[in-house]
Amino acid sequence: MGLAATPQHLWAFDKRPATKNWVWITPDPAAADEMWVQRFADMKAAGIDAILLEVYNGRKAYWGSKRLPVETEWLERMIPLAKEAELELHAWMWTMPCLIPEIHEKHPEWFNVNRLGQSSLEKPAYVPYYKFMCPSRDEVHEFIRGTVAELCEYAIDGVHLDYVRHPDVILAKGLWPKYDIVQDKEYPQYDYCYCESCRKQFVDAGNIDPLEIDDPTKSQAWRQFRYDLVTNMVNNKLIPEAHKNGKLITAAVFPNWEMVRQEWRLWELDAVLPMLYHSFYLEDLKWVKQQCQKGIENMVAEKPLYSGLFVPALSPEELAQAVKLSLKGGAQGVSLFSYGAMTNAHWAALKKS
Ligand SMILES: [Zn+2]
Repeated sequence: MGLAATPQHLWAFDKRPATKNWVWITPDPAAADEMWVQRFADMKAAGIDAILLEVYNGRKAYWGSKRLPVETEWLERMIPLAKEAELELHAWMWTMPCLIPEIHEKHPEWFNVNRLGQSSLEKPAYVPYYKFMCPSRDEVHEFIRGTVAELCEYAIDGVHLDYVRHPDVILAKGLWPKYDIVQDKEYPQYDYCYCESCRKQFVDAGNIDPLEIDDPTKSQAWRQFRYDLVTNMVNNKLIPEAHKNGKLITAAVFPNWEMVRQEWRLWELDAVLPMLYHSFYLEDLKWVKQQCQKGIENMVAEKPLYSGLFVPALSPEELAQAVKLSLKGGAQGVSLFSYGAMTNAHWAALKKS
């Protein structure tokens, strides 16, 4: 394996384009346009090439949506300013969680169900916003595709998918104390989705009802079925929608993808932005490099990987080191989470790295 892979990777290295750095930006519509002009200029000067603006958080749209509840028309304001600053603009949207009361009332069946039979609508895992829709349903695909389509009507460079997955069946170990839990195996209250649609489709494919399997956590077929539900939606619905509109499409993905049923190595995206938040996994910065290498090796088609860095857990010096290690691991740049956590010293460190 290793020997066969080497020449291809060397060749990939030779034709690698210049690096590209990204930053995730949470909504701040209250800041005046003049302030954003300055912020964008500063980011650009520090080495940022692309911004990811959070314009849909499962609850409110930050553009003049005709189909989602609108908070304010922030995207419309930011597009010309980003263009002026020569920054790529990617519209960051939540994918599976849906926190819109009207949808809850009209379509309770869209929401996923855990192995105890509890809908995420009534009993979300971990946090109140973990109301994930089920990826087995065409109506859910269409709802999400509609959001991608509407964003593509704007003069953006791309759409960025977040939460494109199932809920975490096992959280990253560093988060266990926060929720006061120990997840030494896949417990039923965090294990999705056992809704009627999922179970029926699995049975129709020639399997037994997952609720009748002695230990469904041991069934590779059931596991793969759930990975495939997400992959099918991404590859066959969301990516074609972006591409037919001439937009790029990327996603924020998990290094421990099995735990969120997110087999992104198969996704036909334009780039992947794995969230290599080392502190969540109680790991050090070497792990960031290893995860870049692993992610690149595992993807079936060659595409850029940008290393997602968790700034609150990085001193400015560590940020510079994480950037270097990411590039050594084969990343074509980094993506910073998030803008609000970057101090002047962090920007200075990025600029030098
Ligand atoms: Zn389901």
